[in-house]
Amino acid sequence: MKIQKNILLKDYTTFKIGGAAEFFAEVNNTIELQEVLQWAGDNNKQIFVLGGGSNLLVSDDGIKGLVIKLNLNDLEIEGNKVRVGSGVSLTYLLNETLENDLVGLDFVTGIPGTVGGAIRGNAGTYGQDMSRVVKTIKYIDDQYKVVEISADKAKFAYRHSMFKESKYIIVEAGLELKHGNVEEVRKLIKERLAYRHETQPHRPSAGCIFKNVKFEDVDIKDLEKRHLDLSRFANHKKIPVGYLIEEAGLKGHTIGDAQISEKHGNYIINKSNATAEQVIMLISFIKQQIRDKYGIQLIEEVQIII
Ligand SMILES: Cc1cc2nc3c(=O)[nH]c(=O)nc-3n(C[C@H](O)[C@H](O)[C@H](O)COP(=O)(O)OP(=O)(O)OC[C@H]3O[C@@H](n4cnc5c(N)ncnc54)[C@H](O)[C@@H]3O)c2cc1C
Repeated sequence: MKIQKNILLKDYTTFKIGGAAEFFAEVNNTIELQEVLQWAGDNNKQIFVLGGGSNLLVSDDGIKGLVIKLNLNDLEIEGNKVRVGSGVSLTYLLNETLENDLVGLDFVTGIPGTVGGAIRGNAGTYGQDMSRVVKTIKYIDDQYKVVEISADKAKFAYRHSMFKESKYIIVEAGLELKHGNVEEVRKLIKERLAYRHETQPHRPSAGCIFKNVKFEDVDIKDLEKRHLDLSRFANHKKIPVGYLIEEAGLKGHTIGDAQISEKHGNYIINKSNATAEQVIMLISFIKQQIRDKYGIQLIEEVQIII
């Protein structure tokens, strides 16, 4: 067990923002994970688990306690069943499953996280998410024991699971996919990547800052009176926050080196040396503007670690 000190977290987040972890450990299997958890317990240290760091805004002051980077990278494929470690990147998983003639994961195209982070936040696109494919989840509970549950117990909802309500650490998942037309899916993936390339910024970010707004949570008629054209979002019954930010004229607004992307309103980019403080100020500015203009209270999708 190797516990390091003062490791800069900006190197572990896609935002390239964040101060140092007081203590830092990388674990390669469940036993090592249990050992470092025991160490944290014995030394009264808080723990924070890092996946791909693609949904995080880490404070400029860093994180107190022990940050654990999960390198749980096992992957086994048998028939249409997949067992995958929580540290495996979604892109690698997608490619390996396609190599095995399995389809059903195309919706993770372009999501830069790991399996663990994606299950915790029920990540997805195009109206599909992890809950569609995950069948079982293995995690470490607060007594450091390994528990396996069936996915229907995981409280999956839009960008939500039971892991957002607990400190449990996902170590492995069981997925069920389908044998299908892999060439067709590869074509779809290529198109989606090209679309992302065209519509999303190529600068460090944490993806979408806010959750899209469900139709059921707002007064659609009132919003249409405010000159929003919402009929085109009727399919998924969610208003993309990027659209609201664009309509409010906020794209390009900058605080320090943090900028609301000119390409996609729901992205904040780090132009070079943005601080977490600058991003937080920009987030507050957007929330206040959208509340004033449309009466909508935006909710962060990005996790802010202060
Ligand atoms: C360019 C870009 C595009 C993106 N596009 C999308 C998109 O289309 N759809 C979408 O849903 N998201 C998108 N995201 C956001 C992000 O990639 C997802 O939320 C992803 O699932 C986060 O996974 P991660 O491994 O990076 O988690 P991290 O950012 O490392 O962690 C996020 C949270 O999960 C916890 N966590 C991580 N691993 C585990 C584990 N094993 N057990 C328990 N908790 C864990 C962490 O403690 C933290 O609380 C995008 C991000 C970027 C930068």
